[in-house]
Formats: sequence, C-alpha cells, structure tokens
Amino acid sequence: MTTPDFNRPSDFIRDIIKEDLRTGKNNSRVHTRFPPEPNGHLHIGHAKSICLNFGIAKDFNGLCNLRMDDTNPTKEEVEYVESIQQDVRWLGFDWQDRMYYASDYFERFYECALDLIRKGKAYVCDLSADKMREYRGTLTAPGKESPYRGRTVEENLDLFERMRAGEFPDGSRTLRAKIDMASGNINMRDPVMYRILHADHHRTGNKWCIYPMYDYAHCISDSIEGITHSICTLEFEDHRPLYDWFLDELKVECHPRQIEFARLNLSYTVMSKRKFIQLVEGGFVTGWDDPRMSTISGLRRRGYTPEAIRNFAERIGVAKRDSVVDIALLEYCIREDLNKTAPRVMAVLRPLKVVIINYPEDKTEEMDAVNNPEDPGMGTRKVPFSRVLYIEKDDFREDPPKQFFRLAPGREVRLRYAYFITCVHTVKDDKTGEVEELHCTYDPATRGGDAPGGRKVKATIHWVSADHAIDAEARLYDYLLTQPDPDDVEEGKDFRSIMNLNSLEILSGCKLERSLTGAKPGCKYQFERMGYFCVDTDSSGGRLVFNRTVSLKDTWAKVEKTLKK
Ligand code: ATP
Ligand code: MG
Repeated sequence: MTTPDFNRPSDFIRDIIKEDLRTGKNNSRVHTRFPPEPNGHLHIGHAKSICLNFGIAKDFNGLCNLRMDDTNPTKEEVEYVESIQQDVRWLGFDWQDRMYYASDYFERFYECALDLIRKGKAYVCDLSADKMREYRGTLTAPGKESPYRGRTVEENLDLFERMRAGEFPDGSRTLRAKIDMASGNINMRDPVMYRILHADHHRTGNKWCIYPMYDYAHCISDSIEGITHSICTLEFEDHRPLYDWFLDELKVECHPRQIEFARLNLSYTVMSKRKFIQLVEGGFVTGWDDPRMSTISGLRRRGYTPEAIRNFAERIGVAKRDSVVDIALLEYCIREDLNKTAPRVMAVLRPLKVVIINYPEDKTEEMDAVNNPEDPGMGTRKVPFSRVLYIEKDDFREDPPKQFFRLAPGREVRLRYAYFITCVHTVKDDKTGEVEELHCTYDPATRGGDAPGGRKVKATIHWVSADHAIDAEARLYDYLLTQPDPDDVEEGKDFRSIMNLNSLEILSGCKLERSLTGAKPGCKYQFERMGYFCVDTDSSGGRLVFNRTVSLKDTWAKVEKTLKK
C-alpha cells in the first residue's frame, strides 16, 4: 500500500473526503463507483467521471467499483457492457474483482420495496402516466394526492406481489413512495419506485416484469456495495433528498454521501449517448468509433492516448457549476503527449515530383534523421535520398507571395536532413498549365543540411525518395459541428442542423518514408510539419491508412497567450 496522495492538487470533492478521513467517518474507508448505464458507448464526459472516481480511490488508498446500471431492459446491452469494460481498462483503471450489475440486486430492491410498503411508506397507484403528471403539480403549485394513496398495507402488498407475478399490463400500475405531494421539491412528490414493463432483460431474461426506477435503485445499489462517496453530475442535486430518504427509511447500515459535480461539456461536441446514437444512425459518421466522435473508442482510433485524456481530466478539474471547455484544451493535451512520445517521420500528403537533375541516376544515399529532438533516447534512423523525390505541393509556388519563403523558380531551400536544392525548371501539363514536376539542382557541399560559409536559406521542407516511398491514405478531420455550441440552433431544430458536412477529407496518394513500412494499427507518429498521425484499424495487408489525430498548429497555446495578457 502506498500512502494517500494528499499533495496532489485538491478539489472540493477531495476536500470533503479529506475531512471525512480526518474525522474517521466510514471507518476511514474511501469507496467510489463508476455506474454507467449500458445503453451506449462511453464518451469523453464519462472519461471525466472515470478519472474522478478511480482517481479518488487511488489517491486515498480506496476502492472503486465498476457497476453496470442496467435497471432498464434494452436490447443491445451485451455489446455495450463489453465496450465499457474495454474503455475503462484502456484509460488505465482497474476495478479488480469488483464488477457489478444493478440487475443482480433486483431481488434486494424488491425486498426493500416490501419493507417500505409494510412501513406504510410505499403504495400501489393506479393513476395513468398522464393523470400522474396532472396530479404532480408544478414548481409553483403543490401536487394533489393520488386517490390510491390511502390503500392499506395488506392491499398494497397483495397488489405489488401481483404486479411482480405479471397479472397487470404495462403502465397500468406503479409502486410509489409515500412522501409529500406538497413538497417544494417535485422529486419528493410520491416518486415512482417501480413500473410494470413486460420486457426481457439481457441478464435476467423474463424473470421480471416490474423494473425499479433509477432514484430508487441507485441509492440501494450504492449502499449494498458499501460505497462511501457517491459522485454524480449536477442534475441529480435535486434528487439527493430522495436518495437520502430511501436510505433513511430503509435503515441501511451503509448510507453513502451523494456529491454532485458539473458535467463536462466540450465545444463543437455533442455529449450524450442519445445524441451519439443519432450521429451513427443518421449516417453522419461510420460508427461509434468513427475518429470524429468524442466517444472513447473514437478518440482511441483517432490516436488519442489514455495519458492525454487523463491529463485533460486533471486540467479541467472538478467544479460545482456547469461550463463549456474549449476543445482546444483536449487537443493541447494530446499534442503535449505525442510531442514527447511520437517518432517524427517524413510523409508527403499531396505529392509533387522533384527531379534533382545533377544527382546520379543510380545513386542512393542514407541520410541520418533524428527520431525525436525532444528525446535523444529515441535515436536516429537512415532515410534514403535519391534523384527523384516528392515534396508537398504546398511547398512550391510558381508565383510566390511576399511571405512565402519555400520553393519557387530560382529559389534555394533546404531539404531536411539532406541538401540545399534550387528550382531551375518547371514541367507543366500541356492542357491545364498545372505544374506537374520540378527540376532542381542540389549542392553536394550542403550534405546534412548545412552550407559551407554559413550560406542561409529561408525554409526547410520535408521530402520522400520516390523509389523508396510507400503509399498510404491519410484521413484529415474537422469538427462534426459548424458551431461551438450544439444547442445554438434554430427553433424546432437540433444539432443535426449544424453538421459540418466537410468534416472528413481523404487524401489517397500520400507518399511516406520507408521506415513506416509495416506500421501497425494504433502506431503514432508526427509527420513533420503536417501533424500527428495514427495508423487506422482499416489498414490491412499492404494497405496503410492514417488518421490525423491533430494538426501541429497549437491554437490552445495562442488562446492561453492572449488569456495571460
Ligand atoms: P448520457 O447523457 O451520455 O447518456 P448519462 O449521464 O446518462 O450520460 P450514464 O451511463 O448514466 O450516462 O453515466 C455514467 C456516469 O458518468 C454517471 O455517473 C454520470 O454522471 C457520468 N457522466 C455522464 N456524462 C458525463 C459528463 N458529460 N461529464 C461528467 N460525467 C458524466
Ligand atoms: Mg443515463
């Protein structure tokens, strides 16, 4: 066991826990849980909650459970359960042998309900959903008591048992907590605990036709597992009195403390499983793991690392008020990580052929290239140089504007790790007039990239030897939304009206340096001057597909600079 990390930057939740440890509350135990509902894949918002719950357990020598909050019977849950486990593990967290399912507690929930009925604290109600809504009242007007509120304990026990036995159709009856129809908190106005739903559940099959509601099931699940701090998002703040009411009435041994924090919102990003499903089903993306999706699987495929996501979660911190985080901060975090860890290579995304006319036809030289100037330990490699090369189309201008210092007719530039070259001639397409090929000369005295006498050039560009190049496809991504705020849409419309229809650009004729031969899905690189790239899972056999994880342009550093001013 390590000692608790009291020195790491604190937040209001860790402050609460420190105080509880100081006073010896919960026998000085810290036990949290991450309770996803397996109705979709996890997203970056969940990552914040995972880092918080597992992070707190780690900091305070505590435990964190993984619990599937599967009280809603739905179809595809098995696939989601598996992907949730994979994502949590990938983020670097371990629930050891504490993987639980709320559905395993169905019998306990039922026993607790009987208990509340016997105490006169719950009753079977025959109001329809519409009527119940009518009786509930509003924020300003109190509710009205249900005509079924006065049923005897015997009658309630009998009806509830028959609800379980399947005697009644869906929606015909509910079990409700008997609290206070005049409460200022609408959640306390006799909330529904159970509803009738003749639906198969992925784990319990057709055993049950009554299913518990979230507020009722969640607090009992927490209590059963011995949770000490039940951390959830702000929308549950008004539900906390109900959380406490159930546990108080049930006189449980373990009564966890519910603590609410602000959910993560990211600019240019939707943030709810329901909306991600709409993106998938609407054909806006290729699937849950489309690299444009802010799902954990999408970010992973895009080239994000667990370290970068954990760092991001740490940087945004935990707050009590909702806000929107600039997506540039997430991009900053992945750049920061890949800058240190990703090998740098040369890749030409939009190739323009260059012939070095004074270089021998059959000659190849192996130039020394540094794998990562940030980390000399990553070593060097040999990059082949020969007479025919590719450079980036954008690195040549026939008619260069003032600020353009790269290659142009008559101009000299440095080829990284190789020689100075000068453009002496352009070959154009007869019909279109487009430049198809450049003829250049090289200066043999500049091998390695330095000229004798300190002759300077204003630009260094990357290149790839044509004979040695390997082919690849590169996929460049933009945000899925055209506006930072997904809710800033015309009345009656939703985020689907602000989709960026140009969020994917496919470049199929890319030329990469030889060292990338056989690169495996998930491998990450910095393509010099072009951004960070990751081998996509679509790669197979000889086909190489790269995702651009993020460009090199560091908008966040700029934002930060202006903020500091
Ligand atoms: P969604 O709207 O995507 O379905 P949810 O809150 O319904 O989100 P759950 O599976 O119920 O999803 O959430 C599991 C845990 O993750 C909960 O404790 C929830 O509070 C937390 N969580 C979900 N979204 C966010 C978010 N954007 N930021 C922080 N925590 C989140
Ligand atoms: Mg939910």
